[in-house]
Amino acid sequence: MKLTVLGATGSIGVSTLDVVARHPDRFEVVALSGHSQVDVLAAQCRQCRPAYAVIGSAPDARRLAGLLKDAGLRTEVLYGPDALLQVASLPEVDAVMAAIVGAAGLPPTLAAARAGKRLLLANKEALVMAGAFFMAEVRRAGALLLPIDSEHNAVFQSMPYSYAGDMAHGGVRRILLTASGGPFRSAPLDALTRVTPEQAVAHPNWSMGRKISVDSATMMNKGLEVIEAHWLFNAPADRIEVVIHPQSVIHSLVDYEDGSVLAQLGNPDMRTPIAHALAWPERIDSGVVPLDLFAVGQLSFERPDLARFPCLELAYRALRAEGNAAAVLNAANEVAVTAFLDRRLPYLGIAELIAATLDAVPQAAVPDLAAVLEADRQGRAAAVDLLARRPCATQP
Ligand code: NAD
Ligand code: MG
Repeated sequence: MKLTVLGATGSIGVSTLDVVARHPDRFEVVALSGHSQVDVLAAQCRQCRPAYAVIGSAPDARRLAGLLKDAGLRTEVLYGPDALLQVASLPEVDAVMAAIVGAAGLPPTLAAARAGKRLLLANKEALVMAGAFFMAEVRRAGALLLPIDSEHNAVFQSMPYSYAGDMAHGGVRRILLTASGGPFRSAPLDALTRVTPEQAVAHPNWSMGRKISVDSATMMNKGLEVIEAHWLFNAPADRIEVVIHPQSVIHSLVDYEDGSVLAQLGNPDMRTPIAHALAWPERIDSGVVPLDLFAVGQLSFERPDLARFPCLELAYRALRAEGNAAAVLNAANEVAVTAFLDRRLPYLGIAELIAATLDAVPQAAVPDLAAVLEADRQGRAAAVDLLARRPCATQP
């Protein structure tokens, strides 16, 4: 199988190349992309020898090309957003791993869908922003959409494939998305006023990129995943429930009309859903340590506390509002998380800024990519404006 890996230098990208390297007879890497980590991308090119490598800017492209030439590689170096579209839709490529973080991933992920590829979707923001339109393009082009997000991959594995994509016909009562609760699940509420970026990115169970780690701390990640589940499985908002499960062993569950509840379990390591989607419907070694239930001992479950995690409720609100609301939510969240990581916004300001942005941007329909990108632009502009007008607060 010939692969393009978008976002190869990130956490999901590195895990993908790890699984791929275990099966040299099965996978061939045709293209890799990274935004600014030239040396990491150069090392990955030396390992995978792709035909194309895409980087963010012209100066970085020149430096990358020099490194690859010195290594004797014939990899063609490209740069910028159009090059991402190109490598996402190359005719010789069978499968695209969409692992760019944030809204920047939408255009190339959509290009892979439109080209009818096997699309391994890690970039949940693309689906959150473009939902209905994105799924329509997947169906129109006959792309095979396989979720990489561990929860959605677990749901996919817990549904007969003939129903996946439409729970209305599968006798499904509810989808139960599990969440670890992140680093602040049991911290005293008043301590949340003093949370630092370092504390927020230190996830108890998963090793991930910085943005998704902050999203996990606020539970906006779970909120985005509720929206993602809505589109992937045609599930109404009131039939998607979030369950806090601090051990992160059950990756999600499907509750059926007959009382059966099916789940997928495993150690928290993204190489399992990545290997699942790369090989589906077959199974291959992922390098993940087998689950030892005796070592785990106990599995526990809690209802999420919405006072502690207001971002979760904001995501349900955006999903129910339809139209541009989810794209605005996503844009405001990206602005808020960046400001928090740059120490320009306190931790509790993240949810406040998103709520205020949702109030500020008027409702609109999003029938096509231009409308989605306009919703994203409006959400960002409103969030940046509200951020500038916040009373100055110094942050730990
Ligand atoms: P990361 O920050 O580790 O990596 C992001 C990748 O995107 C890097 O290769 C980076 O170079 C590239 N990138 C960043 N900005 C870009 C831009 N403007 N243009 C082009 N490329 C750009 O992120 P990650 O943790 O690997 O997450 C990637 C995606 O997968 C996210 O959408 C995240 O929500 C999703 N996801 C991640 C995990 C996880 O365990 N890390 C789990 C589930 C879903
Ligand atoms: Mg997830």
